[in-house]
Amino acid sequence: MHPGAGRPYLAIPGPSVMPDRVLRAMHRPAPNIYAGEVVEMMPALVADLRAVARTRQHVAIYIGNGHAAWEAANTNLFSPGDRALSLITGRFGEGWAASVEALGVAVDRIDFGRSAPVDPDRVEAALRADRDGAIRVVLLTHVDTATSVRNDVAAVRAAIDAAGHPALLAVDCIASLGCDDFRMDEWGVDVMVAASQKGLMTPPGLGFVWLSERARVRSADAARRTPYWDWRPRIAPTEFWQYFGGTAPTHHLYGLREALGMLLHEEGLDAALARHGVLARAVWAAVEAWGAGGSLRCNIAARAQRSHAVTALRIAPPDGDRLRAWCEREAGLTLGIGLGMATPGSPEAGGFFRIGHMGHLNAQMILGALATIEAGLIALDIPHGAGGAAAAARAIAHPDAP
Ligand SMILES: *Cc1c(COP(=O)(O)O)cnc(C)c1O
Repeated sequence: MHPGAGRPYLAIPGPSVMPDRVLRAMHRPAPNIYAGEVVEMMPALVADLRAVARTRQHVAIYIGNGHAAWEAANTNLFSPGDRALSLITGRFGEGWAASVEALGVAVDRIDFGRSAPVDPDRVEAALRADRDGAIRVVLLTHVDTATSVRNDVAAVRAAIDAAGHPALLAVDCIASLGCDDFRMDEWGVDVMVAASQKGLMTPPGLGFVWLSERARVRSADAARRTPYWDWRPRIAPTEFWQYFGGTAPTHHLYGLREALGMLLHEEGLDAALARHGVLARAVWAAVEAWGAGGSLRCNIAARAQRSHAVTALRIAPPDGDRLRAWCEREAGLTLGIGLGMATPGSPEAGGFFRIGHMGHLNAQMILGALATIEAGLIALDIPHGAGGAAAAARAIAHPDAP
């Protein structure tokens, strides 16, 4: 069937589906950047950015993607010769560690594998072993998009405190913000990074760094800061251009304004998080039913350790590749490739794929995607248990079931 005959669904874990309203809000002439609407919209926009992270502290906006947000945080936190502790649960944790290391920082890594969350006891032990408190920052990925594991941020904070260690806690919420519950102040997070194109439903191009007052004070001596990345003017600008270190990302700001309005003021953050929980359980219900008669599995075995934004799957290779190709060609559904699970191009790599379910998404979209995957399993003669789509329908019909 011609896949372009209806609306396609880009079910990769970012960029996510962009609401038409967000795109329309961006479709307008360039505004004056010295006075008027775009200047005046900033205080409320900054307040909403604080609200989505559940913080009363600081936020800096950057023109850039998630990698830029990593570097923004890094250059403000570290000096050459510093130490950091990186907690790795997938490809993105490894990526952040590498970007910190490139600044001349010594990065200790604890790798928890590709199917398990961070074990806070190991974090506490590593910090206790650091007797002179040399580790400056603990780096944690809330949801690693490659494995779809969701880490317990509050438990990592508790482990740092139990060790009596002074390290700051920095968290990557690029995949999870707006989809999985995150509470910056309540959980004692010092730095958090995110980007516009996943749960925040805005095209790629904005990166954000939230920081605690403690992080601001403790990073005063960071030696690798350059004017563009410096978060100090961005969190407390006296002129409009200082929010962005230059020309404002005008159209992205219009898009973000619309998206945050939808998320915070129309639906409400709690309702959006609950929606992502229900939609994720529909995905899991389908996969668990299919897995009863075949090799398809959620990469993360325990439901409590799975993200509500993305699901990484395992299947006997090359059926992951075959299924993705069928869904895109026959039905207009684009699924995500596996990332960081096997060498790209190797036979094993065809045994992984991902479903992105972040952002602008309702039940009919996810039910359509899951029924399409089921059709692909049937069409390709891939062994699977029956009733996946029906199991997903039941998860939607009973949204309060665990
Ligand atoms: C997407 C993602 C990144 C990278 O973001 P880019 O915008 O692609 O640079 C980093 N970390 C996590 C957890 C992500 O999901």
